[in-house]
Amino acid sequence: MRPLLALLFGAAALGAAAQSADAPITTFPYTPGIDVKSMDRGTDPCVDFYQYACGGWIAANPIPPDQSKWEVYNKLALDNQRFLWGILDELAKRPQGRSAPQQKIGDYFGACMDEAAIEKLGAQPIQPMLARIAAMKTKRDLPAVLAELHLATGDSGLLFGFGSNQDFEDSDKVIGFAVAGGLGLPDRDYYFKDDEKSKEIRARYVEHVGRMLELLGDPASAAATSATTIMRIETALAGATLTRVEQRDPYKLFNKVDYRKLRALTPAFDWPAYFKGLGLNNAGPFNVTEPAFYRELDARLAAESLDDIKTYLRWHLASAVAPYLSKPFVNEKFAFYSKTLRGVEEIRPRWKRCVSLVDNQLGEALGQEFVRRAFPPEVKARTLHMTKQIEQAMERDIRGLDWMSEETKRNAITKLHAIVNKIGYPDKWRDYGKVVVKAADFFGNVMRAQRFESRRDLAKIGKPVDRSEWYITPPSVNAYYNPQANDINFAAGILQPPLFDPKMDDAPNYGNTGGTIGHELTHGFDDEGRKYDAKGNLKDWWAQGDGQRYEERAQCIVDQYSKYTIVDDIKINGKLTNGEDIADLGGLILAWMAWKAETAGKNLQPIDGLTPEQRFFVGNAQWACGSERKESLRVKALTDPHSPPKYRVNGLVANMPQFQEAFSCKAGQPMAPEKRCRVW
Ligand SMILES: [Zn+2]
Repeated sequence: MRPLLALLFGAAALGAAAQSADAPITTFPYTPGIDVKSMDRGTDPCVDFYQYACGGWIAANPIPPDQSKWEVYNKLALDNQRFLWGILDELAKRPQGRSAPQQKIGDYFGACMDEAAIEKLGAQPIQPMLARIAAMKTKRDLPAVLAELHLATGDSGLLFGFGSNQDFEDSDKVIGFAVAGGLGLPDRDYYFKDDEKSKEIRARYVEHVGRMLELLGDPASAAATSATTIMRIETALAGATLTRVEQRDPYKLFNKVDYRKLRALTPAFDWPAYFKGLGLNNAGPFNVTEPAFYRELDARLAAESLDDIKTYLRWHLASAVAPYLSKPFVNEKFAFYSKTLRGVEEIRPRWKRCVSLVDNQLGEALGQEFVRRAFPPEVKARTLHMTKQIEQAMERDIRGLDWMSEETKRNAITKLHAIVNKIGYPDKWRDYGKVVVKAADFFGNVMRAQRFESRRDLAKIGKPVDRSEWYITPPSVNAYYNPQANDINFAAGILQPPLFDPKMDDAPNYGNTGGTIGHELTHGFDDEGRKYDAKGNLKDWWAQGDGQRYEERAQCIVDQYSKYTIVDDIKINGKLTNGEDIADLGGLILAWMAWKAETAGKNLQPIDGLTPEQRFFVGNAQWACGSERKESLRVKALTDPHSPPKYRVNGLVANMPQFQEAFSCKAGQPMAPEKRCRVW
């Protein structure tokens, strides 16, 4: 399973809705790193820099009707998907002359796109697994069946999740993790919230569960009764699950036990039989992330009848594999999870779902093709060099901080030197040799690829941590800092124009991608990153008093952002966005320092009427061009830890005297206030 990553974007953030540009492309569209047409030079940069840098882009790129927002990143993600479509479409149609990985991704994609074959099969592909559930004679048969279902689906909705992860206190080792699961709604709170909307969602959920069971062939009345049973079991499990806020504290999720204690925790569940089913020879230790959940799970297994357990398993199995079955299953799942829960109007076109699936299941095979076409070695070398420059800037920055004690500085610099920079793609490609992909067996392909992934994950248990592993695929328009590995990961998909433009000079590239690298880097050292040491062990390395002094500086930024309006009369919750606002500012300061070091002694000239310093800031701002619907902004105000793009630009430059100088702003203008904040 995936460690606790600080991803730049959540899984649902990009490309979640349908799009109209329905044709594959074979060359990646070029958008320059600075586009003067995207600017609005009629606006005074010292009054509203965001409008100055992005006004043209916003006017030329209205929000498509099927999107809640439209930003530079969304546009890049769409180009990226169409480009991957072009690669896969060609490989699917060319049966000869393909390498082994090319055969796998080509045939996988081709089978996924063959809707006629999938429709013809209906619910048939799921029958062998349903038969395994039906054949259980006593509850003693459960562990072996559950192990099979877990391997084939990788879905923790089936009672719980089991996989591998880094030991929180010994970061060189991989151990087994038993995590909470068993729910069909996205969060435990959905089962208990008392407002009308939540009650309605629960009612709709029970209807949805019933309809899925009907699709499996259950009569309507029996399906409705079963749905109520399932809701009862899930509600009991949800009641013993930690809230999302509680889960943010890694100490709450760390409860290391040996084999004996694991078995004592759930006497009603036969772990040895389950491990045998997984093909796992494991004597522990284990991390049970939520012991209270497992106590409740044990109570359920003891109390529920075998028939009710079977009913529960049938539902979760059907839900897990619905996207790979015929349209009635696909549409029923979409209708509840995307439309009812998230307001998405239209299902994504088939090609997008198939591109995502290939990326999900065979991502490093697809990644090889992407990298060969769109990420040449020069770009890797240049972005790696930039990352190193920014790390060196951070060392100078840390040494100069007036609020951090000498002891903490020493620990910080040790941690900084230990960071592993992973740029573009893994050093060694994952070998998918064991995954059999057949041109006419979509469902089988998905299950075989998932079993391969489940086994790959379990095989890590008991071994040293492989620090070269990536948790996003090379084509991803994404990046992360992983505190447990203490590494920075920038996928090739995010190092593309206009974010990183190899045709351009350093100013816009340091301003844009450099700022993002700096942003991710500071997360390793802030009030979150301080919990993990240089090797990724859960161990606080800040000296007494540093936390207090950090908070004082952070408060300046809380106060600043809390004054900004998101929509109508709703202001930014400056406490919610504080960690990200601090990272934005720190990241750009580091990028500026690194850029100055990189270009020292060079005679830089103005381009398009902008000085090099102005181009650094415009390049930075143009990552954030975009707009968002009012409804969406209201949701964001409550849930998103990032400020809206306008303030991720204006709030940032207002704190940088370098900006005031670059644009000759007069003291007291909106982008050159008297009072400035700085943490890093
Ligand atoms: Zn961040």
